[in-house]
Amino acid sequence: MSKRAGARAKLRKYFIANVGKILNSDDLREVAGVSEWARRIRELRNEEGMNIQTHNDRSELKPGQYILVDLNSVPSFERNISKETRAFVLDRNGFTCQMCGAVAGELHPYDLNRKTRLHIGHIIDKSQGGTDDPSNLRAICSVCNEGASNLTLPRPSDLKLLAQVRSATGSSQFEVLKWLVKKFPNQTKDLLGN
Ligand SMILES: [Zn+2]
Repeated sequence: MSKRAGARAKLRKYFIANVGKILNSDDLREVAGVSEWARRIRELRNEEGMNIQTHNDRSELKPGQYILVDLNSVPSFERNISKETRAFVLDRNGFTCQMCGAVAGELHPYDLNRKTRLHIGHIIDKSQGGTDDPSNLRAICSVCNEGASNLTLPRPSDLKLLAQVRSATGSSQFEVLKWLVKKFPNQTKDLLGN
């Protein structure tokens, strides 16, 4: 086994033995025994699909802390998706979860302990004949992704959405207005007649 594969195997074993626990960079460096231990962890995540999170995913983690959340792996198709396709789909979807509307990098509206991390998901599941074509892909956050198999949040109807906005505070309504104006600059100008 190469030194590189050996370090990765040691880290894999250590993460699995400590699933659900916060691990620190000092320990991980020692376990790996190589200077490129962080890169090996990225490989475990990106190539093997291990559900390892960092402070980029969870606000309660400090830089240098890692956690293997569970032993469920990230869907393998996502690992095979090209960087270009991934970037294209995320950009097209405005870096916003297409199920709950959470924005990448911001605190998740339904789980304020977590920063929103976006995955690429299928619109029509592969088991139902969906393809890996970008037209069948969408941005889904990790919160929705974890519950996606048994919980599909329907898009709210216009009526329900308007009712929710009407019942919100003025400052919340203003936040919605700012977001809408930013999203629809030309339509806003047309509406205002200039
Ligand atoms: Zn979501």
